[in-house]
Amino acid sequence: MFEFGEDKPKEECGVFGIYAPDQEVARLTYYGLYALQHRGQESAGIAVSDGRSIALHKGMGLVSEVFSDSVVESMMGKMAIGHVRYSTTGSSLLANAQPLVVHYQKGMMALAHNGNLTNALELREELGKNGAVFQTTIDSEVIINLITRYRRDSLEDALVKTMMDLRGAYALVILAEDKLFGLRDPHGVRPLCIGRVGDRYCLASESCALDTIGAEFIRDVEPGEIVVIDEEGLHSRQGLTKTARSSCAFEYIYFARPDSTMDQLNVSASRRQMGIELARECPIEADLVIAVPDSGTASALGYATALGIPFGEGLIKNRYVGRTFIQPTQAMREVGVRLKLNANTSVLKDKRVVMIDDSIVRGTTSCKLVDMVKKAGAKEVHFLISSPPVAYPCYYGIDTAEREKLIANQLDIEGIRKFIGADSLHYISEEGLIRALGTDAVCLACFNGLYPIPISSMNRGKNDFELKKC
Ligand code: SF4
Repeated sequence: MFEFGEDKPKEECGVFGIYAPDQEVARLTYYGLYALQHRGQESAGIAVSDGRSIALHKGMGLVSEVFSDSVVESMMGKMAIGHVRYSTTGSSLLANAQPLVVHYQKGMMALAHNGNLTNALELREELGKNGAVFQTTIDSEVIINLITRYRRDSLEDALVKTMMDLRGAYALVILAEDKLFGLRDPHGVRPLCIGRVGDRYCLASESCALDTIGAEFIRDVEPGEIVVIDEEGLHSRQGLTKTARSSCAFEYIYFARPDSTMDQLNVSASRRQMGIELARECPIEADLVIAVPDSGTASALGYATALGIPFGEGLIKNRYVGRTFIQPTQAMREVGVRLKLNANTSVLKDKRVVMIDDSIVRGTTSCKLVDMVKKAGAKEVHFLISSPPVAYPCYYGIDTAEREKLIANQLDIEGIRKFIGADSLHYISEEGLIRALGTDAVCLACFNGLYPIPISSMNRGKNDFELKKC
């Protein structure tokens, strides 16, 4: 059954880490994860270390469902890491929830990963031949196995060697040997930033988590960098030479929270700029600009301001619909749609409307939105999209659906327009998106198929593979 709202790419994970012996690290991690909840809603976990042993609590569900006050209170230590995860159906297993914790020759280690390895299957096969056993189906376990394989080296050297083995996208937070580590792949595909709380440091997927715990943003972890945080403070080492930066463009278009700043780009300002570029590329004579809330809002405001057209709340979002509402029957499908979003008739009636959304993945949602706005009395509905057409799957940690389910892989723009029933349809161009972001140091592979990191033939076509992404 179609569920309204599921027709969007899904972020795989969010990570958080803190070293602060004088503070309640579990509680701060809990709040950090709360701020990152949009990056994954299926499982959550926190690992806390006192420098010798690591306590772990993880479970299926939202951060608020997994952690009670008493659990957070009981997790005492000097440093902690946390993780929120989204996974594709079938991999929603507690064993796959993170952080992962292992005992190895040098003690205990905890790891949390955002991203997706593109050579995970080969690495897993090779490790398996050498006797490694796996308890999960996620690629993150391959990373922790590799690190322990280099146990004769110092941990920092082991991390460098592990990075040399890995291909793909990864932002990692690791607890081991009385230290907190943060690592980012040499292309910097997935975000990771550093904050300061008093004279202590923390790491987070997005700066909104730093704001939430009252930490000051210091900087982003550089591509290929290893950050080490301990009693001495923060120091860093370039694990791998950085290659051309390829931050995920979709973070700015849709995933990240508008109040986050990643790699020097504020998300809300970037989205507004996308709207201005859309206005330049496709000015439409209209009476009203509306957004598909929430990620289309900043672009719609940018478009409306650039062309001097009024912006209105044409679609109203119900903020209290979670994952757990009883799915409507087939006969009540429309109720399911309206439960999450409803058209505001008083705003839309008799208007020529420009509606702005961040992306079209399969097209099923867009169809229903156009229909809803027309039924509310709009004379015309022009659909503008602040991303280029999503025509290729992502192998770097985003679930974009399989290639053949992507409508832009199957139909041209006129075909998509007819399918969704809009009067006109325009996607921002790649050039317009780059202008809006002010940089071309971004991955655009799901739009143009030019993958900045090679995908092994074993992993290609395995966007929903046995080895689950995270
Ligand atoms: S392929 Fe698309 S979703 Fe994946 S990292 Fe690149 S821009 Fe982001």
